[in-house]
Amino acid sequence: MIDNYKHKGQRVKLVSELRQKGITDEAVLKAIEKVPRHLFMDSSLEIHAYLDKALPIASGQTISQPYTVAFQSQLLSIKKNDKVLEVGTGSGYQTAILNELGAKIFTIERQKELFNNTQVLLRKMGYIVNSFYGDGYLGLPTYGPFDKIIITAGAPYIPEQLILQLKNSGLLVAPIGNTNSQTMKVLTKIDENNTVVKDYGNFVFVPMLKGKS
Ligand code: SAH
Repeated sequence: MIDNYKHKGQRVKLVSELRQKGITDEAVLKAIEKVPRHLFMDSSLEIHAYLDKALPIASGQTISQPYTVAFQSQLLSIKKNDKVLEVGTGSGYQTAILNELGAKIFTIERQKELFNNTQVLLRKMGYIVNSFYGDGYLGLPTYGPFDKIIITAGAPYIPEQLILQLKNSGLLVAPIGNTNSQTMKVLTKIDENNTVVKDYGNFVFVPMLKGKS
């Protein structure tokens, strides 16, 4: 697990690219500068690790584009010790960024291979994360309620179960739409009966699928 001056230099460049693209949250930018993204993918892809691009990982999934990771992280406005549920662990890169922001993370992945590999990787890198193999549509009712929830796969709608597992005044950030395009939504839970949803532009994610694979 080598992280050398070249990788670090590439991350500094990536951060300035993300600033130009409109990311302003300094804590998020600092986390992007710190986390070695190249370690979250196959070593054959390492040369592309610091381009602002989504890249393939195991089980036909993708590691999200750095801009998307930064954008979702910024929308979540993480405070230290926020209890965060992440749906779609994938490579674990977004998980690591949230960890750097001080969140206590509960993350769910439905692909067994990714769940296994990523759990080992995050532990090896020193990240303390609660990883679960399961269906994110159901959330983690016994571990909630959460201050924040992030979905990192494109969902057809905001799952009701997840809204139930959100604290009052909690935030849920999720790309909602069809398989070709989704709109980034931020749902604020006002109280048990009221939510407010705002839109933040279009993105393309791999689909959020039901059940475990
Ligand atoms: N944040 C991850 C994104 C990976 S892509 C990263 O940057 O690496 C989205 C992930 O969501 C995939 O790994 C996919 O298997 C997972 N996923 C899709 N539907 C899911 C569900 N219902 N529950 C849990 N994970 C799901």
